[in-house]
Parts: sequence; structure tokens; C-alpha cells
Amino acid sequence: MKKSSIVNRAIVNSLALCLCTSVAVFGQYDLVLKGGHVIDPANKIDGVMDVAITGNKIARVERNLTDPAKKTIDARGLYVTPGLIDLHAHVYVKGGSGSLFPDDTALLAGTTTVVDAGTSGWRTFEDFKSKIIDKSRTRVLVFLNIVGGGITGDDAENNTEDMDPAATAAKIKQYPNLLVGIKTAHFMRPGWTAIRRAEEAGRLSGTPIIVDDRILTGTERNTREKVLDVLRPGDMHTHTYNDRQLELVNRFTGKVQPYMLEARRRGVLFDLGHGAGSFLWPVATQAMAQGFPPDSISTDLHAANILIIQPDMANCMSKLINLGMSLQDAVLRATVHPARQIHRFPELGTLGVGQTADIAVFDLQTGVFAFKDAWSKKYMGTKKLECVLTVRDGKVVYDQNGLGFPEWDKAGEYGVIP
Ligand SMILES: [Zn+2]
Repeated sequence: MKKSSIVNRAIVNSLALCLCTSVAVFGQYDLVLKGGHVIDPANKIDGVMDVAITGNKIARVERNLTDPAKKTIDARGLYVTPGLIDLHAHVYVKGGSGSLFPDDTALLAGTTTVVDAGTSGWRTFEDFKSKIIDKSRTRVLVFLNIVGGGITGDDAENNTEDMDPAATAAKIKQYPNLLVGIKTAHFMRPGWTAIRRAEEAGRLSGTPIIVDDRILTGTERNTREKVLDVLRPGDMHTHTYNDRQLELVNRFTGKVQPYMLEARRRGVLFDLGHGAGSFLWPVATQAMAQGFPPDSISTDLHAANILIIQPDMANCMSKLINLGMSLQDAVLRATVHPARQIHRFPELGTLGVGQTADIAVFDLQTGVFAFKDAWSKKYMGTKKLECVLTVRDGKVVYDQNGLGFPEWDKAGEYGVIP
């Protein structure tokens, strides 16, 4: 036998040994979350299941999987959901301060997809993409501001000259995988110019719009006309539970306004957009009691409110759960609904087999907890949702309690990191 074939045979043998070892030791899946209560509204799953991941994809969701895995995490007593989608946050800044890097705030709350709501416009998007989106482990999608420069202050955001529907739509068509719609925000001049321009960009690009728009005296705008005549089915209005953007609850009677119910029937969608000023207990409690939950739950998280109200997704969901929303419904409005609203369902917002493995694991705690609103009033609740583990693109990126870590005394000599 020639020397080269001896070498080849040795290589083949060692490869075979290697493969056998890997099959015997590592098995079929890369990661299994075992025995958690899975809530996957898209697939009508609400019960104890195992979730198996191969590579970056969901491989199986079934009871009592017995196939071996490289890594198994015990999720008993915890809730396992699709990674959350935060429909309204701010993760970019141009020439100022206010935004947060997505990985620093999203992943530890179970949020695997952040939709930046208008911080950039068509003129600043490339800068946003290269500095943040391309470097973030969190998936970042974007509503492009109808203002070309994005959110940079009142003068710029009131400049209708910089609201160019054609240029905005062209940018969306250039990056259809990242740009999911158009935002209009903070317009203080009278009339509907900002919303109309956003709608025109939406028509040209085939994407929805999300509106952050005031109704104060002097704007010549009111809620009724806005939700019944101006916004179209599929358009979204954020800041549902404040009192300056929408008059959801009649201040004198405490009743949800009939035009809001009519708008919902028309297909206009309402997003929470908590932020520093847009979650008020008087509005939220009455709206929830009368059956007007937000269609999508979102944080409007930015640098100014994270220290005051800490409205991450788990915090926002906890508040609604304390006001009577079921955990299952909160998950629906933080996964399936936002995915649909940005036309990204079912590739986002589900644990469907073959989809990207973006997963959140929660502990639903009971006790007495204080939850703060935008008027610095607190509500004492009895349930609190806390994210304990997040999987993004098949990898565990956050593990608060070391669920996936070995016990130190089983890992070998003290000081030796396995
Ligand atoms: Zn915002």
C-alpha cells in the first residue's frame, strides 16, 4: 500500500471516529429548551412543550422530545415565546442624543426585533445602517421618517420642504428587507400635510405608515377626523394611551369614544408606544376595562425614558396583564400582531418549524410590584413578567440566571473555565 493511501485511510478512519463520536455525544439538535410552557399563538400552541433548534432555525416543537442535543436547557416553570417585536423604539441618533444601542436594551427584555420608528429619514438611513443596523445582533427594521433628515428637532420636523414622498419610497425600494414603512412624528403646524405626505410615500412603496401626531388646539386636527377620514386601513397610530395624540377616552364621561371603535372596525391599528409620555393610568385602566387594548405593544424606548419609567417590552406587557390582559393575549400583541402590521408574518413572530430561532423565555412572577406611568403615578400590581433567557438567531444571547451554565463544582477544578 502506498504511503499516500495509508495516510488517506488514517484520515478517513479518524473522520469516521469523529463523526460517530459527534453523533453519539451531540445528537441531532444544537439546543433544546425543555419542558417550558410554550405560547406560540400563530401555531395555536399553549402548553408544555420542548423547542428544538438546529443551526439558527426552529427544528421541532413537540412534547417530550427524546433525541439528544448538544445543549439542553431546563425551562420547566417558565414560559417560552417567540422573540418579541418592539414596533416602536429609537436606536439611532443623528447630531444629538436620545437613542439607545439596541443590543443594550432589547435582548435582555426578550426583544429580538426592534423597529426604529422614524429616527432616520431617506437622507440619513445609510449612516444608520452602517453604524447601528449592520453591527447589531438584535434584528433592526425601520420605519423611515417622512422628513428626510429624520428626528432632529422641531424646526427640521416641521419643514414640509423636506417631506419628499418619492425619495422616501425610492429608499424603501432600495432596502426592502430593512425598511418596513413610514413614520410621521412631531408635526406642529396646522393641517394634515405630514400625514398626507407619509401616505403618499406609503402608496408609492407599498408599505404602511405609523403616525405620532398631536391634536392640540392650533393644529386644526382632531381625533375623529384623523382616525375616520385621514388614516387608512392598515395604517397605525402610536401612543394609544396618552391624551394628546388621540382622545381615546372621553374626559367627561370616561367612555371610549365611539369613533375609536369605528376606526378599529375600519382597520386602523393602534400601537402602545409607551415612552416617557404615552402611558397614563387614567386612560389605560378605562380603555382596558372597556375592551380597547392596543393592537401592538411597543416601548418607544429611548435614552430619556429608560431611566425614569423603564418601559421595556416585559414592563409594558406586565402593565397590561395587571389591567386584565391574559399572558397569551399580551404575547400575541407583542409577536404576531406587530409582525403582521409590518408585513413580516409568518417569518417573524412565530416558533414555526423552519423559521429563524428567535425565542424569549419568561418568568411570570407573583407578588406586589410597583408600575410607573408617564405622570409619575404608580400602580401596585400583583404580576410581573421578567425575561430570563433570550435566543437570537439560534444563539443564547442572554441568560439571566445561568440556565444554560454548568454548576461550577461539576466543571472541574476551581478556577478552570470549561
Ligand atoms: Zn417615538
